[in-house]
Amino acid sequence: MEDTYIIGIDLGGTNIKAGLFNEQFAAVEELTILTEAQEGPAHVLERIRLAVAQLCERGGIGERQITCMGMGIPGLLDPEEGLSVFSPNFPGWEEVHVVNELKPYYDFDIYIDNDVRVNLYGEWQQGAGRGYRNLLLLTLGTGLGSGIVHDGKVLYGTTFSAGEIGHMNMFRQGRPCRCGSSGCLGRYVSAVGMVNTFKEKLQEGRTSVIGNWTEHDPERITAKMISEAYDLGDLLAVEVMHETGELLGFGLANVINLLNPELIIIGGGMSAAGDRLLRRVRETADAHALKLSSSHCRIVQAELGSRAGTLGAAVYAHQRKHRGRDS
Ligand SMILES: [Zn+2]
Repeated sequence: MEDTYIIGIDLGGTNIKAGLFNEQFAAVEELTILTEAQEGPAHVLERIRLAVAQLCERGGIGERQITCMGMGIPGLLDPEEGLSVFSPNFPGWEEVHVVNELKPYYDFDIYIDNDVRVNLYGEWQQGAGRGYRNLLLLTLGTGLGSGIVHDGKVLYGTTFSAGEIGHMNMFRQGRPCRCGSSGCLGRYVSAVGMVNTFKEKLQEGRTSVIGNWTEHDPERITAKMISEAYDLGDLLAVEVMHETGELLGFGLANVINLLNPELIIIGGGMSAAGDRLLRRVRETADAHALKLSSSHCRIVQAELGSRAGTLGAAVYAHQRKHRGRDS
């Protein structure tokens, strides 16, 4: 019998990352092409088909050897209908029937889910979360998202919106959020949020070595610079990193009290800050969550790195095909 494979697609506003995996989830072929999102949904779907064709060609396999394909898509969606309702990074992208649009071209099954939840499936089955039944994945990037496994089941909620930790309210009067509220955790704990905290303190007259690196142009400040300045002992960078970690720690104390997880995995680009951030996160969560719960919960970094999106999508597709949405 011929070998069979699974495709995982990570659909981003800038790039489409695609991976071809064998049935043991080892990567056989990987590629990245531009999404060209400004050309509209029909064009993006064509780009996905191009990525699939290139993967098969480079991997030297026929499409009949593909058993299923999973896709992680940011924004609101309905995984049962294969419908992407809205995605903030894609112009003109509303009510796109991703699965129905692609199905006529392929014999294999296609499944979509939210990008964060797809990463969760990957970390749960193939990464830091292997063997756990109660865990969360937080993705700390330009924004903040989470996916939840509770008693061995991935939580979806009534409108498939469970896990929106970025909109957990932390302040009665805080930074405005595009959700319509203000003081949301993601406005502070994210790459953009941490940089904004830094900028606020500069405006109050504080100084930092980063001023020299950016010719005092605050628009050039990045989260990575704050990590680098932290390593040099820059007082403002240390303060901002600690404040960010403390806020995330309070947010996680709420999560730990509510869900009683045994593991919280921190992924996404900003997780590269590592213990600079996580030490204060752990201290704060330990000090403010219920002792019994927090003493049984570890906070760790994600393991899958840049492959989290594609591998997660492949794991998710395999799971849907063989077992439905649960484990
Ligand atoms: Zn919000």
